Amino acid sequence: MSTFWSPLVRELDPYVPGEQPKGQNLVKLNTNENPFPPSPRVRQAISDNEILALRLYPDPDSSRLKKTIAEYYQLASDQVFVGNGSDEVLAHSFVAFFKQPQPILFPDVSYSFYPVYANLFGIETKTPALNKDFTIDISAFDQPNGGVILPNPNAPTGIYLSLDDIRSLVEANTESVVIIDEAYIDFGGESAVCLINEYDNLLIVQTLSKSRSLAGLRVGYAMGQVHLIEALDRVKNSFNSYPLDRLAEVAAIAAFEDEAYFVECCNKIMATREWTIEQLTKLGFSILPSKTNFLFAKPSHKGAQSVFNELRAKGIIVRFFKKPGLSDYLRISIGTRDEMTMLIDALTES
Ligand code: PMP
Repeated sequence: MSTFWSPLVRELDPYVPGEQPKGQNLVKLNTNENPFPPSPRVRQAISDNEILALRLYPDPDSSRLKKTIAEYYQLASDQVFVGNGSDEVLAHSFVAFFKQPQPILFPDVSYSFYPVYANLFGIETKTPALNKDFTIDISAFDQPNGGVILPNPNAPTGIYLSLDDIRSLVEANTESVVIIDEAYIDFGGESAVCLINEYDNLLIVQTLSKSRSLAGLRVGYAMGQVHLIEALDRVKNSFNSYPLDRLAEVAAIAAFEDEAYFVECCNKIMATREWTIEQLTKLGFSILPSKTNFLFAKPSHKGAQSVFNELRAKGIIVRFFKKPGLSDYLRISIGTRDEMTMLIDALTES
């Protein structure tokens, strides 16, 4: 704390990202990154010419990337917004839609950046509790609000809501914007992008960080009807004209153009997920049903924190949330089959 801090900064409670260890030889299963490298086309796209062009500012609208994403999802280019990671897209969305007199709604267990943005932007929140089985109680979102946001599948539970549930949620909230954060949708869920042209209050947010192996590139995007995208552009152009650098734009386009590689990586991760569930179940873990690249798993033989510490000592990092209701569980990202074998071996020994 310093006397120079503004009253706002004094009140902030910043998000704490999972550890990014500096040392090598660790099995890193703590931040839901993709264990496979990006598509080989990404490297080709970052050509010498692109590097020489770095002396010039990038296209402030990232028009080529927007066109690529729009074509991929059968939308128009002006239905797409891009930003520096979906975190930035989410932050702009809070300003664009949620800075309202009424509180916004999100589940009490969901992405822990939402309360941080709400705090930063002075937005009131209400957080309906999950059901006992960790599923989202849709009916709790049928109340007056200044906006609704939830991850689908949810994080850190991994539990997925059906398209019918998303439809009900959007229809119950026609007076406010409903944001579905689909960071993990490519690991077995069905995206609600197909509902965009039906609902003027639906915004879908996605990222290249998980299913496209580009967490280090920082590219996220939102899709919705034109009037929603216009609002995001107004916020973005009041904050940073060039959120995506030249290399990020060409690399992101290349990732979208390699559909075969994308499908192959997602399939491998889903197969490894199912294998890991079987192995963990044999070891007595209870695991929530996951349609993501991570598992939320509860050890039966010991407390989650002890298991976390033991794994850490063996060079395997998973995520532990020291929060009421979550502290019995570990969140374990799905790595390669070899990495998951190392995890299972380490747990078998303990
Ligand atoms: N939404 C959810 C639910 C997440 O778990 C994450 C990753 N921490 C993000 C959004 C942000 O991802 P990124 O900024 O890398 O696109």
